Amino acid sequence: MTTATTATNADLFARAQAAIPGGVNSPVRAFRSVGGTPRFLVSARGPYVTDAEGREYVDLVAGWGPAILGHAHPGVIAAVQDAAARGLSFGASTPVETELAELIEQRVAPVEKLRLVSTGTEATMSAIRLARGFTGRDLLVKFAGHYHGHSDGLLAEAGSGLATFALPGSAGVPADVAALTLVVPYNDLDALRAVFAEHGDRIAAVITEAAAANMGVVPPLPGFNRAIVELAHAHGALVISDEVLTGFRVSKAGWWGVEADTDAAYTPDLVTFGKVVGGGMPVAALGGRADVMERLAPLGPVYQAGTLSGNPVAVTAGVTTLRLADDAVYATLDEVSALLQREVSAALSAEGVAHGVQVAGNLFSFLFGESVAGGAHDYAGVLAQESWRYAPFFHAMLDAGVSLPPSVFEAWFVTAAHDESAITRILDALPAAARAAASA
Ligand code: PMP
Repeated sequence: MTTATTATNADLFARAQAAIPGGVNSPVRAFRSVGGTPRFLVSARGPYVTDAEGREYVDLVAGWGPAILGHAHPGVIAAVQDAAARGLSFGASTPVETELAELIEQRVAPVEKLRLVSTGTEATMSAIRLARGFTGRDLLVKFAGHYHGHSDGLLAEAGSGLATFALPGSAGVPADVAALTLVVPYNDLDALRAVFAEHGDRIAAVITEAAAANMGVVPPLPGFNRAIVELAHAHGALVISDEVLTGFRVSKAGWWGVEADTDAAYTPDLVTFGKVVGGGMPVAALGGRADVMERLAPLGPVYQAGTLSGNPVAVTAGVTTLRLADDAVYATLDEVSALLQREVSAALSAEGVAHGVQVAGNLFSFLFGESVAGGAHDYAGVLAQESWRYAPFFHAMLDAGVSLPPSVFEAWFVTAAHDESAITRILDALPAAARAAASA
């Protein structure tokens, strides 16, 4: 079977731009910050994606996270095909939804009850409404550079596409709504204390990425998550730990699991999931304390609903992915990640490109420039880098058949299917890419 079409990526992009704003259904896909023509993908298998011209790339985007097993894992595809043959959507409860909820609750202890939704945006939006409904308070605290999806109150100083396009927020968000979100520098406990000292009795919740990975990777300083929880609870506020990106990627129990057996262990009130929980299909979730979760309709007064919530085909992809991701899978993710961190860093150093390596579990990214060689702990630190060095690096890799995230403000994602030949292709591409970064 050939996957090549007669149309080039350029043709497809021109046609898409005429029909779709910017030619894309999510902004970062447009390659605006790296320039050039986005690749229109037609298939993916293991560690590879293939574009419409029939060209294959080693993929370090992994669907922006979900593909921990590699693309189109035969076990997941078979389960999805079987589920699809039994009907695509019922709008009624199915046994597999409970299976997924139980699986997550067994792994992530703070999650006593869980509700499934379709996107990470819905999960965080609903978690915030729930926190407000539970506490009877309106204010929300978020950290600069953290991205929690595109709902109105969460776009202030957000990461991901807003970082890529240097947007402070979004047009179309009413000022009264934006004013309910207080933005604090990440990893800055004094700033968080100051916000609580001033507004403590009006704060419903602090929302935080469990480990930040939407401004590039910025791990929490040791004990920071725990300190957030202690401070919030002292003021009667809840903590929403956003594991949409980290959940079931950095460990079987997400970032919570990474810190659970350390001095930094923490217990958030609510946790949001996405990406890996859907195995590449539209599933996300919010879960947490039973007494909070039971405020959701139909038990409580906080409304939340969805025609496609718990969709049987999508949930089957998620359950099957989580079941197949055994200890060996996580060990491989960690190994591949460590190897690439080391090799990319060595290639950059060999060309005299000053850089920092940012790591949170198996998530990683690079910062370019002397001033950030020691790493960054917050959004201001990340923005201080020589970000222009990334575009030539990215394109040299792409030309050599390696697909990286098309923005310096995104994490790199490995899969357990990145085998020796995929890794070799990445390593072979690095010297020229590092040279391109050096001469930028
Ligand atoms: N929270 C985090 C931490 C995310 O990384 C993302 C997506 N990158 C979201 C929320 C939003 O998820 P979605 O794109 O599925 O709406």
